[in-house]
Parts: sequence; structure tokens; C-alpha cells
Amino acid sequence: MSWAGPWLEAAAGLLYPSVCAGCQGPVMAGEDFCGRCAGKINGIEEPFCRVCSQPFEGEFPDGGFTCSNCHERKFAFECNVSARRHAGLVRDLVSRFKYQGEYYLRKPMGAWLAETWATDARLRAGPPVSALVPVPLHPRRRRERGFNQAEALCRTLGKRARLPVWNALRRVRYTETQTHLARDERLENLRGAFAPARWRPVAGAHLLLVDDVFTTGSTVDECTRVLRRAGAASVRVLTVARR
Ligand SMILES: [Zn+2]
Ligand SMILES: [Zn+2]
Repeated sequence: MSWAGPWLEAAAGLLYPSVCAGCQGPVMAGEDFCGRCAGKINGIEEPFCRVCSQPFEGEFPDGGFTCSNCHERKFAFECNVSARRHAGLVRDLVSRFKYQGEYYLRKPMGAWLAETWATDARLRAGPPVSALVPVPLHPRRRRERGFNQAEALCRTLGKRARLPVWNALRRVRYTETQTHLARDERLENLRGAFAPARWRPVAGAHLLLVDDVFTTGSTVDECTRVLRRAGAASVRVLTVARR
């Protein structure tokens, strides 16, 4: 890099002072978070479930561990990889992004996804990914919120990972929010909620489905089933946070 690079960045920092996405305090130019907030954002460390990334206390032999949630049911996706734990500051950021319209938070969250995409062996295993697919919102919910958070995350990740974004799914039924439902109720709530988008064929494609939060996996599993029925060869899942 020439001497002008950091100098220009510093000058831009004077014109547009950066603030921390966590606490609005000052940050170094080019950083999303101050040191204090960065220390409150936790990744997922081993051991964790190799299917859904649920972290677990204790030790497991050779990393071949599957959690009880994944043991009982057969997910249609290959794996879910979550970039961060859904706790503390991460939980607040996800909530501010979705419910308080803080659209700019797609950038730091998209950066977490890009970093995870670049480094996680489970996502890189198998044939190359053809495209990113966001979990869709019903048009009514999208109007209420102003944007689809999963699509915004896909756009940020797509630019960094140089992957196209395919709106390959439609939400055809307006569903109540899942937050307070148990696992069985979630499955019932989602039945027939998604359909393939006719204008975006997926036959033979290896897809990376993207969403903000992975809770029981019911939403991304239902989306995966619809994509597979439409002919997708495989679906891997990448989410910002594991609840
Ligand atoms: Zn901060
Ligand atoms: Zn699991």
C-alpha cells in the first residue's frame, strides 16, 4: 500500500468521524466497534454441534459431536454455521437491526458473515457455492420493516465474497412471529409458508441460505426443503447468531 492509503483513510476519518456500532463512542478509523464493545462480542468456540453449531460445555472426542436437538431430527441442510453467540451485545445489535430500523448494522454483521464464510471448513467443504439465498419475508412484514434483514446481510456478504444473491424463495403465507413458540409449534406455524420463486430456477445449484438468527432451525430447514424440492443440489446455512 502506498503512503497515501492510510493518510486518505485518516483524512476521511476527520471528515466523517466513526462511531462505535455498539455504544456510539469513538472508534479507530475503519473499525466498527470500540475495544470495550468488541470484547463483548463472542464467537462460537469448540466444542459445538457439527450440524447446528450449538456450543456445549465439556470435552468431546475428535469433534464428531451432535447435539440432542439434531440427534432427534434430520435436517435437510448440510450444516448451519453461526458467526456469533446470540447473547449480550450481539442480541442487542440483532434486535436494533430488525426492530429499530438500524439498517447500517448490516455492515458489521455482514463482515462477521464474510469472515466466517472465508474460514469455516464446514462451509468450504463440498462443491463450490453457486449463490446466496436470503430467507424471505412476507411482503407485508417487509413493508412494515422497510427491508428484509436476511437480504441486506446477503448483499453485504455477496460483495465481500463475490457471490451472487438469488431471491429464490417467496414467503406465501403471513406467519405470526416465532419468538415465543416451542419447536413443534414452529414447525406447524411454518407449514406451507414458503414457495420457490419461479423467476429464479435453482436446479442443480449448491446454495448458501442466509438468515440472522438460528434458534431451533425450523425456518431454515423448511426453506431448505422447498429449495431441494425445486431441484437444488445442496443447501448450507450461514447465520449471524446462534441462540
Ligand atoms: Zn463501543
Ligand atoms: Zn445440533
